[in-house]
Amino acid sequence: QRLTKRRARQEESGAEGGGSSFAELPALRDFELMKTAMEALDLPNPFFRPHAGAASATTVIEGAEYLNFSSYNYLGLNADPRVKAAAHAAIDRYGVSASASRIVSGERPLHAELEAALAAHYGAEAALTLVSGHATNVTVIGHLMGPRDVILHDATIHNSCIEGARLSGARRIPFAHNDHQAAERELAAARRAAGRALILIEGHYSMDGDVPDLARFIEIARRHDGWLMVDEAHSMGVLGPTGHGIAELQGVDPSGVDIWMGTLSKTLSSCGGYVAARRQLIDWLRHTAPGFVYSVGLAPVLAASALESLRILGEEPWRVARLNANATRFRDGLRARGLDAGASAGHAIVPLMTGSSVRAGRLSAELFRRGLNVQPITFPAVPERAARLRFFLSADHTEEQIDRALGIVAEAAAGTGPAEGAG
Ligand code: PMP
Repeated sequence: QRLTKRRARQEESGAEGGGSSFAELPALRDFELMKTAMEALDLPNPFFRPHAGAASATTVIEGAEYLNFSSYNYLGLNADPRVKAAAHAAIDRYGVSASASRIVSGERPLHAELEAALAAHYGAEAALTLVSGHATNVTVIGHLMGPRDVILHDATIHNSCIEGARLSGARRIPFAHNDHQAAERELAAARRAAGRALILIEGHYSMDGDVPDLARFIEIARRHDGWLMVDEAHSMGVLGPTGHGIAELQGVDPSGVDIWMGTLSKTLSSCGGYVAARRQLIDWLRHTAPGFVYSVGLAPVLAASALESLRILGEEPWRVARLNANATRFRDGLRARGLDAGASAGHAIVPLMTGSSVRAGRLSAELFRRGLNVQPITFPAVPERAARLRFFLSADHTEEQIDRALGIVAEAAAGTGPAEGAG
């Protein structure tokens, strides 16, 4: 009762908690403004929708079934009986938590097994897992680089890399998306004054679904005595005939990359992040990287799920082929209907460019009304003119579901007006 009264008093005064209000925070004011603008459009909130079960090709939201294009369940392993059995066995044996940092309380054999399997996947000497993909980039980049150094990164690199670069205090230079010549120009100019140099790229870009020219970036890093780090969050299990990532797709020797990074949360249907590299680097990170040393170890159940998913990936490359066929079918289907699928290379991620945030929001709402779940990506996550819907394909989607989705999208897009300045 006392809590209810306190809450009522807070609401009257507009204050959260015991102290002064947060309403003066500029970023919070911007957020409130954005919410008001969204409310004025009278669209249902497309975010934080509660799914009743494991979301895959279809999902149930508030009692209704939807065709689902919003989950990273790339190979459809999230609810695979073998992955669930491995998770159950790990829970039965170890409980649900690692209960403390591995450096403090020790680890479980599953940690070393998963790290050995991840290292082998890249032909690297060693690997280290952390509790999230985001935390992995922040702590590894933040710890590796320092204020005398320079970090060059693709302009569309994931937020976690930018946060890591900021934390490091290094000079941070974005280069135009996938433009290796621009990267080299910037690096050559910055290199003289800098201590160490790190180039950050993704193996498969999460917003556009396109890929970099890996061999060129390796050459540039070598020529200018820099390190190359590749984020494979959306490449692991997606690119290349056996899902080994961008190196396999492009026939490039993976040892040319200094640090491979990825997440367990997408293809590997778990939660966590990893880096794979030379043993010397991994050993140093294991003993000193703050996000590893001062954070709990990966829950054994999550290590078990990822390990089993990785095993299945090795045994069932047909899943990778099916994912790629599905994504290409969907991308080509959009284009055949006169819609703009951006730069998607047709591997798993297919944007539908809408040209404005409002149109992206409207189209997402209309698709939801017609039984299709896909989220809008709006400003400021992308530039306003590059607002889009982003479709994630899965090996679980059937051709019938993809074709049905294409029909729904084409109809809804025609009903919500032409794309403004899409490209
Ligand atoms: N890197 C990239 C490119 C990502 O897209 C993401 C998340 N979508 C991450 C890192 C962070 O991974 P996680 O969600 O597993 O923390």
